Amino acid sequence: MQAQTHAGETEEALIGEKAEEPPGTGLILNAFPPDAAVIRLDDAAARLKRPPKTRPETRAFRRRFYPNISDKQWHDWQWQIANRISAADHLARLIRLSQDERVALSQPESKLPMGVTPYYASLISPDDPAQPLRRTMIPATDEFMRMACEADDPLHEEEMSPVPGLVHRYPDRALLLVCDFCSAYCRYCTRSRVVGKRTIFPSRKRLERAMDYIARTPAIHDVILSGGDPLTLSDERLDWLLTRLRRIPHLDIVRIGTKTPAVLPQRITPALTRMLKKHHPLWMSLHFTHPDECTPEAYRACALLADAGIPLGSQTVLLKGINDSVATMKDLVYHLLRMRVRPYYLYQCDPITGSGHFRTTVEKGLEIIAGLRGFVSGYAVPNYVVDAPGGGGKIPLMPESRLGYRGDDLLLKNYEGRTFRYPDAAPLS
Ligand code: SF4
Repeated sequence: MQAQTHAGETEEALIGEKAEEPPGTGLILNAFPPDAAVIRLDDAAARLKRPPKTRPETRAFRRRFYPNISDKQWHDWQWQIANRISAADHLARLIRLSQDERVALSQPESKLPMGVTPYYASLISPDDPAQPLRRTMIPATDEFMRMACEADDPLHEEEMSPVPGLVHRYPDRALLLVCDFCSAYCRYCTRSRVVGKRTIFPSRKRLERAMDYIARTPAIHDVILSGGDPLTLSDERLDWLLTRLRRIPHLDIVRIGTKTPAVLPQRITPALTRMLKKHHPLWMSLHFTHPDECTPEAYRACALLADAGIPLGSQTVLLKGINDSVATMKDLVYHLLRMRVRPYYLYQCDPITGSGHFRTTVEKGLEIIAGLRGFVSGYAVPNYVVDAPGGGGKIPLMPESRLGYRGDDLLLKNYEGRTFRYPDAAPLS
């Protein structure tokens, strides 16, 4: 099966590089996921044990559905993209589709295409349509329901685009949509109006126009590469883009927003990280949704990125029935810290068209933050934000801890709900 490509380009042109050594074939001691904790530091013999390279589900899935595919192929990100599951009959051979999923998949007009890498498909339950990872990837009929409060572009990104594919909302930052291609499509995607639609191509001409705008706008100090997923571009094309951006003197940092370590960890190769290292200061915002994504492969991908000196943060969307409990979120943020990824944002799900079944109330988000704050390290508590519909930008929300004043004393509620006084009178000058 051929991978979906940007119009006017062959898949080879898009990927444009030879197979590289598969990631994770070496022993990266600081990258072990917790289920590899069989390795005890006081046990020299045990230290020599290899950590699991993959989950048993992935191993069983490969044995059953890809028995003739070599390790080299399976660990090759280009093979993973070229063999994406994007057709209903292919998917039906791998999992038992529910009636609702069958109906959703048979609709001619979907808001965004289906696409799942074989690796990520191995993490999806073949029997349970309610499994969190399955719900994030497999269409359901609920996504065809449009509520009055929903819009295709609730954040008004189009209105804030001075040139095609560049969003300039905040004074000092710009968002550059590099492409509209992802190796896997999240059903709740904020940019479902564009991703997978083959309208945003990583063409030189368009990217140069966007970079000209950035170069002409000295107020911009920070560019976020997003899309689509920028890490679906070849090393060469990314290198070209980052080199050009680095020539803009007022640009301090470049950030890459990507879900690749979760859905296509094979893409994080030593060659990629060697190239990325040349372009520091480079930051990455990773997109992890659920602890089930934190596999040995994802741990190794994050370790390679962290070892390349790239500060890693995670942006997680709060999703009903998927990660909307304190226990699930706690599990996720602990995984992220072990992966050297700082939980950065927890997003209230945007009111995009057909997302009603994914949205929780804001009250639920505040309850989760209250269940984390004080109970886990401060590093593990993300900023909970609503991206204001209408283009107002991110607005942080916190459970209320200020209870008012008693005289000069400010009354504060701690994480256990106990009240304390802080002397808040003006300090002596
Ligand atoms: S990876 Fe990001 S851009 Fe791609 S479908 Fe998922 S949320 Fe959207």
